[in-house]
Amino acid sequence: MIEKKSGVNLVVVGSVALDNVATPAEERRDVLGGSVSYACAAASPFTRAGMVGVAGSDFPKECVKLLGEFGIDMRGLQEVEGKTFRWSGVYERDMNTRRTLSTELNVFASFSPELPEAYRESPFLFLANINPGLQLDVLQQVRSPRFVAADTMDLWIKTAREPLMKLISGVDMLLLNDGEARELTGEEHLVKAAGCLLEMGPRYVVIKKGEHGGMLFSRESVFLLPAYPVEEVRDPTGAGDAFAGALVGYLSRAPRASAGAVRRAMAAGTVLASFAVESFGLEKLAGIKRSDIESRMRKFLGMIRVPGFGAGKARNPFT
Ligand code: AMP
Repeated sequence: MIEKKSGVNLVVVGSVALDNVATPAEERRDVLGGSVSYACAAASPFTRAGMVGVAGSDFPKECVKLLGEFGIDMRGLQEVEGKTFRWSGVYERDMNTRRTLSTELNVFASFSPELPEAYRESPFLFLANINPGLQLDVLQQVRSPRFVAADTMDLWIKTAREPLMKLISGVDMLLLNDGEARELTGEEHLVKAAGCLLEMGPRYVVIKKGEHGGMLFSRESVFLLPAYPVEEVRDPTGAGDAFAGALVGYLSRAPRASAGAVRRAMAAGTVLASFAVESFGLEKLAGIKRSDIESRMRKFLGMIRVPGFGAGKARNPFT
């Protein structure tokens, strides 16, 4: 599991999971998942990501091998005696509504992240969805990151609000889905909810809306991006993590996290998330090439372009 490569450009902490997933068409057990797995896999075409997480003694060797094949630095993955984190969920017919059936923290309940020395100088940090206490712990171990993004979910909003608020005040970008933004702020209207979240500290707030894409808010502007319309969604699990991982991975190559770079990074996130949902677990992401990403990006950019309304051209619908 130990790779002898130095520095990483991006450190990601989150869950390493074995998921049981049921969609209206299929049911799969023990699928390799977890927020850090999806995020690192989707970041890997853009950057060298180092994963921080914990797996139990039941974690299959093939899963470790698969993660390594993405080129992910695995020095921050601990393997300890006990059971791997397990999550099980079921999707409704629309594939956009999900019910969590169970969450078993298992080895995550006593996980204490210890970052390898080579990770501590990483310029980019993505605190993927996991207990905010662990996210804070990792944040404190990276010396002076240039850009920190964090994701969260309803469970932590309900059960760990205090550390979550502390975390939010210390990050550059917060990502969360629409329901979570409402729950965290008490504001039904998303624009108001985003305003409240920006007040808490982050420069950027990304509100994810599943198959409807995402909204980027900063104090200066709002940016909207639809999702890429894939022909068949087989398993939406991990879409949000893949989106965020690719977004931060892409951003880690940009000279600055400017508003334009963040918008381009959202497009990269959208494209990688669209591949992730075409199969269970990391199957599809493992099979795509750089040329597949480039060609889907071209198609996507064609889909969101409004001819004649581009920059420098007519923007007035009456001219
Ligand atoms: P997403 O579909 O992007 O929300 O991510 C789904 C992934 O998150 C699954 O692979 C789960 O194993 C993982 N997950 C589910 N619940 C949690 C939780 N409470 N903490 C961390 N990871 C979770």
